[in-house]
Amino acid sequence: MRFFSIKNFFKIFLFVSILGSLCYFIIVRLHYTYDIISFEDYNPKSTLVVSSNEIKRSKYPFIDIHNHQFDMPVKDLSDLVSEMDSLNMAFMVNLSGFRGQYLKMCLDNIKKNAPERLGVFVNLNWENIDSDTFLENNIKILRDAKKDGAIGLKVYKSLGLTDKDSNGNRIAVNDPRIDPIWEECGKLGFPVLIHSADPASFWKPKDKNNERWLELKQKPNRYRNPDLFPSFESIIAEQHNVFEKHPKTTFINAHLGWMGNDLDRLSLHLDKYPNVVTEIGAVLAELGRQPKRARKFFIDHQDKILFGKDAYNQQEYYTYFRVLETEDEYFDYYRKRHAFWKMYGLGLPDSILKKVYYKNALRILPSINKSLFKS
Ligand SMILES: [Zn+2]
Repeated sequence: MRFFSIKNFFKIFLFVSILGSLCYFIIVRLHYTYDIISFEDYNPKSTLVVSSNEIKRSKYPFIDIHNHQFDMPVKDLSDLVSEMDSLNMAFMVNLSGFRGQYLKMCLDNIKKNAPERLGVFVNLNWENIDSDTFLENNIKILRDAKKDGAIGLKVYKSLGLTDKDSNGNRIAVNDPRIDPIWEECGKLGFPVLIHSADPASFWKPKDKNNERWLELKQKPNRYRNPDLFPSFESIIAEQHNVFEKHPKTTFINAHLGWMGNDLDRLSLHLDKYPNVVTEIGAVLAELGRQPKRARKFFIDHQDKILFGKDAYNQQEYYTYFRVLETEDEYFDYYRKRHAFWKMYGLGLPDSILKKVYYKNALRILPSINKSLFKS
């Protein structure tokens, strides 16, 4: 067994090390020679000298209509409220209230520790749609939620995308079996915040022409294979049909209805449905790249746009304030997979800022204490 001697081991080790170093050297050399750098690594520091106004606190108190606090039943709310204070967030809507006992625990925690500062939307399970008690149970959940202090219904994108009935059939957003639930929300005064579909780019080929290529690379499960999923257009058409069928129910079409990249279309949409408003959570980068068109959009639809953020992160709000309030040019967004491009401020007038920050939300959620907004 002379082959396994220490000497041979050392020779092999040396050979592998030299080969490895050589490969490394060649790769580095090739990268340099052919200017190869990964898209994620390329992060040039702008040399542009322009005025820069970072804003850590909104000009007026605001309501965040689109937030998720998944540990609400057991969360120590004091840290959250002090962060809200520093941002000037007067009121936060936690859309992930779920239902039943979980919802009760959320509401108890708020009542005890942060009354008047947080609100909760209830969530329903659609997958038992073909059970005999589907309507009865869910109407009861909604009425109990209202009695206990919930202030709306949040519908996740799984409806219309992945939720299936007991036979394995996809449940359409506008499935008529849900109609009485939308009607009940209208009667209860529950606005329905509804997220349907995803950015249209998730249905497009994952290639160099796709604006969300990086997101699909980093989050491969967001890709919507057209063979397995209904099309983007068919899902949002189903959602719009719900708006049409239930004019007495207020709907908050989440994430600018995924039309933030086509504000002409979104404008027609808002004009068509008087019962629909929208919010800007997670789609700020669409607005910040077209400041002139976006400013006009805010002016034209100033009564129908609400402030939302989605994922909670204190520092990320600063970019929202800066896009809405300032006229800064060419500044960074905080998540490259949403925007490899730069932001520009819209410089919205005060009267519109107030509507977007809180007045529009107060109209839809009248139980919020209005004295929080005397500035
Ligand atoms: Zn959300």
